Amino acid sequence: MKVCIDPGHGGEDSGAVGVSNGYFESHGVLDIGLRLRELLLPHMEVMMTRDTDEFVSLSERCQMANEQSVPVDIYVSIHLNSAQTKASGWEVFTSGSTKSVELANKIGYRHAERFPTQKNRGIKRQSFYVLKSTKMPAVLWEGCFLSDPTESDWVTKDETRQEMAEAIAGGVFDFFGIKKNIYGTLNLSIGERVAKIERHLGL
Ligand SMILES: [Zn+2]
Repeated sequence: MKVCIDPGHGGEDSGAVGVSNGYFESHGVLDIGLRLRELLLPHMEVMMTRDTDEFVSLSERCQMANEQSVPVDIYVSIHLNSAQTKASGWEVFTSGSTKSVELANKIGYRHAERFPTQKNRGIKRQSFYVLKSTKMPAVLWEGCFLSDPTESDWVTKDETRQEMAEAIAGGVFDFFGIKKNIYGTLNLSIGERVAKIERHLGL
């Protein structure tokens, strides 16, 4: 099993910006991606389209995933949303292929389970570049809205991004039918789980 984690944006491309705090989408999604990698690595091979704050074009991202000598099984793109109008919540976009929809449903299930009070905007088909141009089942997860004052403050918390990474990891494990999963670590408090991963990440 091999997963490609694709933290959106980076470098001069900040992506969305937190309305209440100036928090960069590019920083948040990299942090979530690194946390996700730590959770997946004991169980599968993981590659990332970027693991530092650098600009990588969309075509480079897809090429990287498509041209691995050990093929990538699934591609998970990580984003935080923004809208001109009042909007909040999470959603997962799919390419429309059966496997992409299946993966999105698994991740969505775990996300909704972990954040039951957050607005569920659902699983949607969308022709985003990274969904169209990757050869393997791909999804694009939008964890919350940086244009929403409450959600933009919420996502700056380490605990929130840790739990978001755990939700995505849970969906990935479900997709591959891995029973022995991160939920084994939930006997630790969220503070302990954050600290455990941050030691690895050197944060
Ligand atoms: Zn984005």
